[in-house]
Amino acid sequence: MLPFNKCPVCGGEITVKRVEKIIKGGNHTATVAINAEVCLHCGERLYSKETIEIFEQIRAKLENNQVNDFREAGKSYLVQTS
Ligand SMILES: [Zn+2]
Repeated sequence: MLPFNKCPVCGGEITVKRVEKIIKGGNHTATVAINAEVCLHCGERLYSKETIEIFEQIRAKLENNQVNDFREAGKSYLVQTS
């Protein structure tokens, strides 16, 4: 099931963790809670092909304002710094 046995960055051990990924599309931002493989050594997150497809679908919905089935969770802010 795991697409990776070892971390491709550092060779560390991989475990499955519930993580939050921020997805941006158009002016919208969504926080997606999803299972990902995470390196125990360097913290690198490895997403499966299926997970990346889910991210792309969510990004497309955000870009097209198809946000009716997403639950609102606070506002998002953009902070510009030099
Ligand atoms: Zn690693």
